[in-house]
Amino acid sequence: MLPPPTLKINEIFPSLQGEGLRQGEPTIFVRLAGCNLRCSFCDTKIAWKKGHPMAPEEIMAQIVAINRRYPSSWVCLTGGEPLLQEIKPLARAIKKAGFRLQIETNATLKPTVGADWWSISPKPPDYSFHPDFIKKAKEVKLVVTRGLSLKTILHLRSLFPAATPIILQPQSGRRWSEKKALSLLRICQKSGVNNIRFSLQLHRLLQIP
Ligand code: SF4
Repeated sequence: MLPPPTLKINEIFPSLQGEGLRQGEPTIFVRLAGCNLRCSFCDTKIAWKKGHPMAPEEIMAQIVAINRRYPSSWVCLTGGEPLLQEIKPLARAIKKAGFRLQIETNATLKPTVGADWWSISPKPPDYSFHPDFIKKAKEVKLVVTRGLSLKTILHLRSLFPAATPIILQPQSGRRWSEKKALSLLRICQKSGVNNIRFSLQLHRLLQIP
């Protein structure tokens, strides 16, 4: 039998989840290399680099070693775009080791693995996403760019179940983006549009990885 394929990895590190509903929970992050998009506001351009090849067992060994020093119940596969690579064997190994699995994705590709928590972040200009995420997403994060419109938020709100929050996330450290996010949130409140939230990136505020 062939060994599982190696994955291209940028970094593996412990931190607090800084975004979305899981904000503040200790989490071990595995950043996969490569992305199929090139967002101008990308704050993880490190993931555009090639990364280094690692077998799933090597990645698991690092996760287990980190977990001894920084106990965490969650592992988060992030990027870049994790779904560009064959992550099934790694996802299975993470679950088998007893961790809960979060995957952060731009949602353009079909989800081919199981995860406890899909955190999706559709991107401009068209904010398109694979339809499988309508039911799977636990949260929809939108980076508040200059181009993000109320129309886009309302359109996405109409596509996802009411229980799935749409989270307005200002571009890190940009005051205009924070103001715009608050203003969009208020308009949604006043118009009776439910489950729209505001969230700053906790790890940026704390200046941790
Ligand atoms: S999808 Fe995410 S990782 Fe990829 S370029 Fe856009 S912001 Fe960066």
